[in-house]
Amino acid sequence: MMHDKGLVIVLSGFSGAGKGTIMKHLLEAHPNDYNLSISATTRGMRAGEKDGREYFFKTREEFDKMIENNELLEYATFNGNSYGTPRAYVEKLINERKDVILEIEIQGALQVKKMFPDALLLFTMPPSADELKNRLVGRGTETPDVIAQRLAISCRESEIMDQYDYLIINDSLQRAVDQVHNIIQAEHFRVSRNSSAINEMKKQLKVFERSN
Ligand code: ADP
Ligand code: 5GP
Repeated sequence: MMHDKGLVIVLSGFSGAGKGTIMKHLLEAHPNDYNLSISATTRGMRAGEKDGREYFFKTREEFDKMIENNELLEYATFNGNSYGTPRAYVEKLINERKDVILEIEIQGALQVKKMFPDALLLFTMPPSADELKNRLVGRGTETPDVIAQRLAISCRESEIMDQYDYLIINDSLQRAVDQVHNIIQAEHFRVSRNSSAINEMKKQLKVFERSN
């Protein structure tokens, strides 16, 4: 069945919840189903990251230029750094009726929801706050200070996460990846997302219409 459109999917979650890990596994398992938007950021590159793969790493001036030129669909500040979604890639995929996933934080997610009311908003969290801290510490990419700042941001974010559509508890990684996939696939079958197929059937059934 040809669905009406591709989905704009937002995956958010506390820093260290496992968003990046879930996305990596989801794309490996379903390379033809999903496209991940790569964000621009002013944050410094972590060991193991590559420009153009995790992010497009930008200077402050370059990032501001992107805003000025209207090249970003949304952007937000997170713990002193700017992050934004390049507009062109997302618009291209929407036009091609393909699913696109944005792995972004809450303020950006709410901007996307305003722009695309049909967007699917997923939020992921670990099974406990202690586990969140363990994962951030275990990742080893931030200083204790920055980890503390990120945990404090999580506390604030938890107050507004009820604006999301679905919650994924990232306990078993494989289960979380499957849940994200299953939710997205089910979402495609919503009646409201399939008006073309429904209208076509209505048209074909007219042949059988009787006046009595
Ligand atoms: P985020 O992108 O949300 O900031 P990451 O994907 O970088 O989080 O994950 C944070 C840390 O937690 C990484 O070291 C990752 O390997 C680990 N991690 C992710 N998912 C799980 C899981 N289900 N169980 C245990 N550790 C996990
Ligand atoms: P990190 O520094 O851990 O890679 O990302 C910090 C936060 O910024 C995460 O919550 C991540 O989802 C978010 N983020 C990444 N890219 C974007 C983006 O393009 N826009 C917004 N609003 N947030 C983003």
